[in-house]
Amino acid sequence: AKNAGRNRYRFFEAAMTQAAQARMALEVSLRPALARQEFELHYQPRIDLDGMTVVGFEALIRWQHPQLGRVPPGEFIGIAEETGLIVAIGGWVLREACLQTRRLVEELGRPLRVSVNVSARQLAQPGFVGEVRTVLESSGLAPHCLELEVTESALIEDMERTAAMLGELQGLGVKLAVDDFGTGYSGLAYLRRFPIDVLKLDRSFVMQEDGRISAFDFIKAFVDMAHALRMQVVAEGVETAEVLDFLRAASCDEAQGYLLARPIPLDALGALLRAG
Ligand code: C2E
Ligand code: CA
Ligand code: CA
Ligand code: CA
Repeated sequence: AKNAGRNRYRFFEAAMTQAAQARMALEVSLRPALARQEFELHYQPRIDLDGMTVVGFEALIRWQHPQLGRVPPGEFIGIAEETGLIVAIGGWVLREACLQTRRLVEELGRPLRVSVNVSARQLAQPGFVGEVRTVLESSGLAPHCLELEVTESALIEDMERTAAMLGELQGLGVKLAVDDFGTGYSGLAYLRRFPIDVLKLDRSFVMQEDGRISAFDFIKAFVDMAHALRMQVVAEGVETAEVLDFLRAASCDEAQGYLLARPIPLDALGALLRAG
């Protein structure tokens, strides 16, 4: 029995080491990735549920690893956050997204909004508001064409400072969205303390774990309440026509999801917008 216990321990140790090594390897190749221009942005269109037109898009980072190929953001954003690399990577995402969007807006002659994900680490930087202002100026993008997505957990850290900072960002004319709403523990009442323009409902808010759609009255009441607080509601992860109809009936404002459009490279986004 003693031996078995020791063997089991060795097994865990080996498994841990393997996971730690894989993580370490990813971290080592993540450090020079920005300088080596291994990142690219894809954009997922966001559709207005009244007119069923593309009103904006979310910038989603893609990493082309020289050996591993495409590494999904779910596998490296966490590492980038822990190591602090997210500050530089996020800065690049912001600049790239604003520049590419300004060119599209100019070419198409209609307002489009780009959503950029901002991690808690970036928000905690004292110079973040200044950085956003500089990027808007250098890219030439109108502030109302930029939306910053922050998660509920990022808001909870140092609430007073964050609220003041979001106020400054709103002062610039930038839109603010709460991402993955429904996965954290804050409710609408809590979010009232922040100058939030948009609530992005997580997929799990509408689709339950058993695959059933949430109660209509509940979602409808929620959307009405958000509207009363002057927040727009955007549903994420819409995969079926059934969910889309449900959201329209609940007077949800906009939606994003594979049913409507997948995240696509800039060229494909341009083609889609020119066609529509
Ligand atoms: P997120 O911000 O919640 O982004 C939405 C994710 O859902 C994206 O995954 C998108 O491809 C995926 N998605 C879109 N439509 C559907 C659908 O209909 N069904 C399902 N099942 N999924 C859908 P992606 O691109 O793999 O990104 C994963 C996460 O990585 C993002 O979640 C975000 O938290 C993070 N991320 C991506 N780009 C950035 C970035 O530039 N900066 C930061 N800080 N985080 C980023
Ligand atoms: Ca997001
Ligand atoms: Ca989300
Ligand atoms: Ca509407």
